[in-house]
Amino acid sequence: MRVTTGRASQSDSRMFTVVVESFGIGRQRRAERRLTVPFEQLQSLMQTIAANGGRIRVVSSDLTTAEAVAATPAPAADPAPQAAPTVPAPRAAVSHADVPVNLYKPKDPFLGTVTENYSLVGEGAIGRVNHITFDLAGGNPQLHYVEGQSIGIIPDGTDANGKPHKLRLYSIASTRHGDNLEDITVSLCVRQLQYEKDGETINGVCSTFLCDIEPGAKVKITGPVGKEMLLPPDEDATVIMLATGTGIAPMRAYLRRMFDPGERARNPEYQFRGLAWLFMGAPKTPNLLYDDDLKRYQAEFPDNFRYTTAISREQQNAKGGRMYIQDRVLEHADEIFALIENPKTHVYMCGLRGMEPGIDEAMTAAAAAKGLDWSELRPQLKKADRWHVETY
Ligand code: NAP
Repeated sequence: MRVTTGRASQSDSRMFTVVVESFGIGRQRRAERRLTVPFEQLQSLMQTIAANGGRIRVVSSDLTTAEAVAATPAPAADPAPQAAPTVPAPRAAVSHADVPVNLYKPKDPFLGTVTENYSLVGEGAIGRVNHITFDLAGGNPQLHYVEGQSIGIIPDGTDANGKPHKLRLYSIASTRHGDNLEDITVSLCVRQLQYEKDGETINGVCSTFLCDIEPGAKVKITGPVGKEMLLPPDEDATVIMLATGTGIAPMRAYLRRMFDPGERARNPEYQFRGLAWLFMGAPKTPNLLYDDDLKRYQAEFPDNFRYTTAISREQQNAKGGRMYIQDRVLEHADEIFALIENPKTHVYMCGLRGMEPGIDEAMTAAAAAKGLDWSELRPQLKKADRWHVETY
């Protein structure tokens, strides 16, 4: 290994490039990779590489942060958007080949360890929603995933027939690097399911198991699964996100990948400079999940991130009913439609199935205003891998 770092100090503003072999996912593992990080993350990156069996060939630095970002190889140019296309042009957005699936199956799940479990809602919120993180260290194979995938959780205990509980799928809320950027954790965003039956409050089995779990507990994890909600690698993409409640989980991962400073330093090949627009539906203001992070991204990247909320029990739509995200979509329908005409635009929908007809109605009206038929356009967007839906 060759290491060229010169003198480094804690106030060192230079970027360091690590050339590594046998590190990463799928095809990445077979190729030599160059990872550029600021000095303060160099040690953690080298530990992560060592822990995952990577071989460091060279460590060098002579670039400042700005120079390193500028020197990052530009992605292959996208086809130029056509002038006012009537039909969104199909475009292969994501290579699905290297996405990990089913590394751990229900018969032989991975035993993860809870490292954190905290509430995501403020005082006065409706219900319980928690952010739960699991340590994935020590797996063979190492359980890894990419943004937009899900994992299965098998709760402890047995069902009414004495059989082990079945697994439940949850969308992953962390990026592939995990909340601590060490590539060995996964986080979920879970609402405790509660409903009334015959005058009795019933608690969901798995969601209650997860919301009550203590750090240190071992949990059976399967997966990862899912290729529907993958983020395009295009740093100039427009990403429109429509989320209700815990449906924000994959969006939280996308937005961290786009705007979190630690993530940006870890991903020199993904310096997002497109437009991300999140529509978030929640019943009350204290139910807005990850709201502080989202407001920070908005303040730091005002040209790249828009954040529009629909607070159903505090705001009213134009008809005097509860304000849902489809009402916000309708308010911005022309703008959204103009964005969708650009082949670089992807739409992601996650959360309650009930929002789908409302979103379709809003898009139908916007398309009709342009003399277009949404029922024809939507399947084309889907075929072009630009319309991504995960609803329950
Ligand atoms: P929540 O906090 O209750 O928020 C849901 C919001 O959507 C509320 O403001 C609700 O309004 C509103 N809403 C209700 N009906 C709607 C409709 N027809 N159209 C648009 N908005 C509507 O949400 P939640 O309990 O977390 O539920 C989110 C859903 O996401 C669940 O079904 C869950 O299974 C699913 N999901 C979860 C994950 C995950 O990994 N955690 C992943 C994907 C999907 P009102 O209640 O005021 O009417």
